[in-house]
Amino acid sequence: MTKRQSSDVLLPYPVGRPYSYLTDGRAVEKGDFVLVPMGRRETLGVVWEHDAQNDDVPEHKLKAFIESYDIPPMPDIHRRFIAWVAEYTMADIGSVLKMTLPALVENSIRKPPRKQDVYPCTDIPSLKTDLDLSNAQAEAAKEMQKAVSAQTFSAMLLDGVTGSGKTEVYFEALAEAFRQNKQVLVLLPEIGLSPQFLDRFKRRFGTEPAVWHSDVTPANKRKIWHGVLRGETKCVIGARSALFLPFPELGLIIVDEEHDQSYKQEDGVMYNARDMAVVRASLGKMPVALASATPSLETMQNVWAEKYKHLILPDRFGGAEMPDINMIDMREEKTTSQVFLSDPLRQALVETKERGEQSLLFLNRRGYAPLTLCRKCGHRFECPSCSAWLVEHRRTMALHCHHCGFNVKIPKECPECDTEDSLVACGPGVERIAEEAKAFMPDANVLVLSSDITDSPKQMDQALQDIQAGRADVIIGTQMIAKGHHFPKLTTVGVVDADIGLSGGDMRAAERTFQLLHQVSGRAGRSALKGSVYLQSYMPDHTVMKAIANGARDQFLKVEASERAEAAMPPFGKLAALIISGPKEDVVRNYCRQLARVAPNYDNLRVLGPAAAAMSLLRGQHRWRFLIKADKTVHIQKVIEEWVAAVKQPSNIRLKIDIDPQSFF
Ligand SMILES: [Zn+2]
Ligand SMILES: [Zn+2]
Repeated sequence: MTKRQSSDVLLPYPVGRPYSYLTDGRAVEKGDFVLVPMGRRETLGVVWEHDAQNDDVPEHKLKAFIESYDIPPMPDIHRRFIAWVAEYTMADIGSVLKMTLPALVENSIRKPPRKQDVYPCTDIPSLKTDLDLSNAQAEAAKEMQKAVSAQTFSAMLLDGVTGSGKTEVYFEALAEAFRQNKQVLVLLPEIGLSPQFLDRFKRRFGTEPAVWHSDVTPANKRKIWHGVLRGETKCVIGARSALFLPFPELGLIIVDEEHDQSYKQEDGVMYNARDMAVVRASLGKMPVALASATPSLETMQNVWAEKYKHLILPDRFGGAEMPDINMIDMREEKTTSQVFLSDPLRQALVETKERGEQSLLFLNRRGYAPLTLCRKCGHRFECPSCSAWLVEHRRTMALHCHHCGFNVKIPKECPECDTEDSLVACGPGVERIAEEAKAFMPDANVLVLSSDITDSPKQMDQALQDIQAGRADVIIGTQMIAKGHHFPKLTTVGVVDADIGLSGGDMRAAERTFQLLHQVSGRAGRSALKGSVYLQSYMPDHTVMKAIANGARDQFLKVEASERAEAAMPPFGKLAALIISGPKEDVVRNYCRQLARVAPNYDNLRVLGPAAAAMSLLRGQHRWRFLIKADKTVHIQKVIEEWVAAVKQPSNIRLKIDIDPQSFF
């Protein structure tokens, strides 16, 4: 009896490998989208290997394909990318496939959008040549275009201060890719996908790009997905998940704001889209350009090691000057308690308004006050499900947990000692800063921008229009205001608490504070008007504050790099974390103890922990952590795989493996 033909099919479920199915005479190829039975259901999958590799199931038990679909196959390069990401992140390969085949796409494969003309961004007609670029811009653009023409892997850092015109430069690289009929992917933090940015694209290319982020409607996502798969959609500008669109003809990837933390996905498959974009470019033999005014240490180290080409834009475009930086030593300021804006900053705000210009006050804290306590007994309001204080929001008159969404009306009396009117709000959030600003500038228009207030793109758009039209004198915002926006009349920036990110033991605390303060400062004086920045700090002598005040970015990064090198921390060593969580603390602890007993122990690898996580309770789950620190030569995934396989995982325990962790809470 001849062997019946079978193929391995990968399903978009948390499975670690493909399963074999009989093709029953169908002519299927690798990458084909097929419908197969799974249990009692039918499910979509992708042909992973043409001849079945998983022959552990006897042939007579194999089930047969139900249907195959007449759409282009998943590109070979994309299947390799999925496999690579799964192996590196230690995620189930089926879960990685799921990122390419989200539920909203699955149904549309059975019934694809029909007409060719529904695909967005299919032709890019307006290829302008009369561009107004500075010499440095033109030179960088030429380098990038050369890299695109070469059609081979290369990595670049496009390095320029806020307002130096990086976007215009990489648009020229896009233009070159379009000329060669290649597809292009531009990754941006979700927050950067503003209407302003899309307008710039439209002005340059005369058409709209395909936009991919969480607010795009399912119907539009389906069109983009099929347009990309067919090679018809030429340009996608999207948040990190756009990296998993199945491009057959990708010729260039841009990762803008490459240092941004939002490139790391912390749920499900834990991957860093910036790093995986470099992998995708390398597999697909194309250039990748990372752009930033404040590159991450990892990226700078690659530049110093001459792995990445360094394209520098030294000046602000159009001759705009960098703002003055003023340090305000809060130890010297005689502010009374519960007053958060110092005299010099207040004076600057008043003078800015008198000149008819705008100010921005930055504080990365939503709500009114981060902590509420009882004056009488000292009771503090904590979330019942998380290790976190409840944050007062005046807008809702409630105390909110920013981690799980729990909220409760602000009580009249203390729940502990029953004293009436004994509760005090401690510390400022943006709502409280707005209250203070209104109190000493009663005729000013004060606008608060934070994700809980401007929570839809429409509201955000309206707020941005108000600012641009000059309908706000003082803008108070969280980090959503820190980047991407360009306000011609904004000349004064005040950072309410410049030290806020420096507490806690995160090895990137200084680097991130530098990036954030630099980004915020960059909002001031981006056109003809000169800007001024005021930083309120209790640690004005800290290396970060000095680096910001002196504009000494590279010097700061060199010092950071030498400290990390000494400690063999990334990028000079490898890190991974195990996060163990579950509803019962003793079960979590016991499992951790068992893991600790068989923890790997080598000269070039150390296991730290277990220790209760900083957020030891999150959404009702108890959390413990291990940290694995290894030399760069260690195959850390393999070590972890063998380690965790040695202990049976209790059923109500979750084990998350985080390779290259970015957050340590
Ligand atoms: Zn009390
Ligand atoms: Zn909570």
